[in-house]
Amino acid sequence: MILDTALYLLGTWAVVYALLIAVYFVTGRLFFSNDPARADKIQPGRALPAEKVRRDILQSVRSLASIALMFSIGHTLYTKFHVGFAEWPLSVGSVVLSFLLSMLAYDTWFYWMHRLLHTKPFYRRIHRWHHLSLPSVAWSNNSDTLVDNLFLQSYWLAAHLICPIAPVVLLVHKLYDHVSGIIGHSGVEHGGGITYPPSPFNSVTHHDQHHRFFNYNYSPHFTLWDRLMGTLHPSHDAEVKENLRRRRVPAVQEKPSDA
Ligand SMILES: [Zn+2]
Ligand SMILES: [Zn+2]
Repeated sequence: MILDTALYLLGTWAVVYALLIAVYFVTGRLFFSNDPARADKIQPGRALPAEKVRRDILQSVRSLASIALMFSIGHTLYTKFHVGFAEWPLSVGSVVLSFLLSMLAYDTWFYWMHRLLHTKPFYRRIHRWHHLSLPSVAWSNNSDTLVDNLFLQSYWLAAHLICPIAPVVLLVHKLYDHVSGIIGHSGVEHGGGITYPPSPFNSVTHHDQHHRFFNYNYSPHFTLWDRLMGTLHPSHDAEVKENLRRRRVPAVQEKPSDA
């Protein structure tokens, strides 16, 4: 029984880790941009030093192993020992509803844990590492310390205790969070019309401002908690609109003068 459970946990971890790594490198490659001259860059004229880019990739590969482990422990406890709420019978409605419920629960978990990490006793030793990526690039998403992950990513261990969600739906939610997090660190506004204020969906600008201004914009999916708690940056809505407009209007290249 113990060996069987250990092998199940190990197998789940290997599959989840492989998935997270594959999605990290494919999405990162697609959305990586570190060209300070790019006209639609949220922080024009700035680039992340090459050694920090390498640091972020290496640390992300380590971090994803611990995130996969937390997800796999929660999954094994649910599957083998029925720890957590039983999932709703499978239907289109239950999939949509449990996905939405999990998004709201994760948003709440992450928002409050993230605020805790920004308090004096925790920030310097645990969370500062992530904020050293300025400006962030797509590879920066999972560049966190191990303890930082224990705060923010332990949702994936506890999710079945919070939501009646099928394991496969929870995995899709994790992959959605992974992809949106990588794009959210890319430094270019890829959010599109769905993030146009006052949309509840986070834009890339939302998290880019968090790296710049520290004490604003803590949530991962929605602007709801930030609006409710007064932690949305005062220029958030105006800057999102401006960055979306800059993405729509192609940059006008200046012609070299003949004179
Ligand atoms: Zn970040
Ligand atoms: Zn932070």
